[in-house]
Amino acid sequence: MIIDQHALHERIIYEKLCRNVREGKLESQRLLIPETLAVSDNEAEAIQENSDFIAKLGIELEPFGPDTMAIQSFPTMLAKANPVEFVREMVDKLSDKSPGIDAERLLHEVLDMAACKAAIKAGQPLSEGEMSQLFADKDAVVRASRCPHGRPTTIKFTLDELEKQFKRTGF
Ligand SMILES: [Zn+2]
Repeated sequence: MIIDQHALHERIIYEKLCRNVREGKLESQRLLIPETLAVSDNEAEAIQENSDFIAKLGIELEPFGPDTMAIQSFPTMLAKANPVEFVREMVDKLSDKSPGIDAERLLHEVLDMAACKAAIKAGQPLSEGEMSQLFADKDAVVRASRCPHGRPTTIKFTLDELEKQFKRTGF
C-alpha cells in the first residue's frame, strides 16, 4: 500500500472540521496582537453574511477603522498558518459572487483550504507514532480513499500484481 500522506491527512482533517463546524465551534486562540487586513465593501458584506460560519471556524473579526478588519482570534489547529493570509483567502472565496456558485460549496472550499494548511506536508518526515496515528485515523474516517479534491490517498498493489510487474509469474 502506498499512501500520499498529505492527501490522506487532508481528508482526515477535512472530515473532522466538517463535524466540528456542524456540531459546535473550533478551538481558537486569541492573538496577542490583533492582525489587520483591508476589506472592500463587498468583502465586508460577505463577512457579515457568513458571520456564523466564521465564528464556528474559531475566527473572530472586528471592525478596525474604515475598510479594515482586525483578526482577534484564530483556530488553534491552524497555528502554523499565517492568520492574515488565511483570512484573506477565506474572504476572497466567500465574496465570490460568480453565477452558479452556491454558498454551501464555498463553505466547503474554505474548510478544504483549512484542511490543506493544517495537514502534514508531502515529503515531511514522520515518526513511527505519527505514521501509526495516520493509519488508525484512516480506518476511522469516511471516504479515506480520496482527498477532498477527489484525488486518491492510497494505492494498493497485491503481491500477485507486484510479481506480475516484475515478471516473476511462474517462479
Ligand atoms: Zn492540500
